[in-house]
Amino acid sequence: METRKRHRRIRKRRATIFATSLLALIIIVASFSIFQIEKNTQENQRINKLSQNLGLLYKNSFPTKNVTNTKIIAFSTKLTDKKGKIPNKNYQLFKEKLSLLDLKVNKQNAINALFVSPVMLGKTLKTSTVKTSTTQKSIKAVVLSALPKDNFLTHAQKEINQAKKQVSARDKEQNLLQKILTAITQNPTNSNLLTAQNTINKLPVATKNKENQALVAAVQKFYAGKKLIALTFDDGPNATTTPTLLNTLEQDDVHATFFEIGSHIAGNEALLKRQTADGDQICSHTWTHPELTSLTAPAANLEITRAATLITQITGQNWPFYRPPYEAVNQTVLNSVNMSAVNYDVDTQDWEDSTSAPVYSAAMAGAHDGAIILMHDIHPWTVAAVPNIIASLKQQGYTFVTVSQLIYDKAGAIQLHHDYFGW
Ligand SMILES: [Zn+2]
Repeated sequence: METRKRHRRIRKRRATIFATSLLALIIIVASFSIFQIEKNTQENQRINKLSQNLGLLYKNSFPTKNVTNTKIIAFSTKLTDKKGKIPNKNYQLFKEKLSLLDLKVNKQNAINALFVSPVMLGKTLKTSTVKTSTTQKSIKAVVLSALPKDNFLTHAQKEINQAKKQVSARDKEQNLLQKILTAITQNPTNSNLLTAQNTINKLPVATKNKENQALVAAVQKFYAGKKLIALTFDDGPNATTTPTLLNTLEQDDVHATFFEIGSHIAGNEALLKRQTADGDQICSHTWTHPELTSLTAPAANLEITRAATLITQITGQNWPFYRPPYEAVNQTVLNSVNMSAVNYDVDTQDWEDSTSAPVYSAAMAGAHDGAIILMHDIHPWTVAAVPNIIASLKQQGYTFVTVSQLIYDKAGAIQLHHDYFGW
């Protein structure tokens, strides 16, 4: 009896202890879980915050210039600190985002180096500036090995190599251009002017305008304070009369402008080469000498350019000038071709004459600073009048120029679709 009672007591006590222990355990487990939940919430907040920061950075990074490699490295360091402290999948997610961001920034750097550079935009011109330009620095600064290995790398490598070649080629051209511009301030020969203009034409628009101004300034510096006059000869070349005229021009060291009829050139190529060698300017006077205003725009274009192309083939001269026969030009003609018309403001009307005296008188009567004098090298009396015209004009202090030299000096950079006719 006693034993049974004691056993019952013991069982009761054991049950109480078990229940108490169980309760305690439950409480402990519950507390721990609550602590864990709390801890996870804090971690999640931190993760969210980091995520937001990264997300913001990510969102704002491309294509704006706000994200730099420095910022990425800073974030990367922060993320490395979080390793082991945040769930691995989150860590990996951010790492992935970072590398993507890194790629974008490097891509942007590469793109900046290639396209958003001063040289590409033509902001820098002088050789010295180009050499130390941001572009070249940034092209060098694009560390390709730092870029992720994907198709972009191969593409970027090609683009950058190409850009480097372009910059190098442009650098050489700039060098050449600077030399020519310097030479032009000493003597603006037809050949130097043409080389300079053709070099400038290949430059980007912003650069082109600046260098055109430099070209004009060089020409104006040379001719400052001088009275300029341009002798122009139409309707040649002529195998009989033109050589005599060239003898005069060469002897008197005078450079003139010839507007040649394209269909007259065959067989007279040597004359054009001789004119070019002596420093004369040669331009188109159309192929068959039609009244351009009576033609359609494409027909006018063909008339002008057919002769111009042949002249370029023979002489290398590609001045964007033509003289419309009979002075006949209108907006349709001017718009028909990427060139400009060059007319005159002194007409000797030498085609009406048969002797030299009236040609001489007309030239001298019309002579003034900035004049473009019209004559024809197909008339023997005109050719015979030229030595006296030159002698008298020299006596009056005139400097003989080609049409291009006169345009640069009097009107500035060459305008297309324009009608020039003296000043
Ligand atoms: Zn003519």
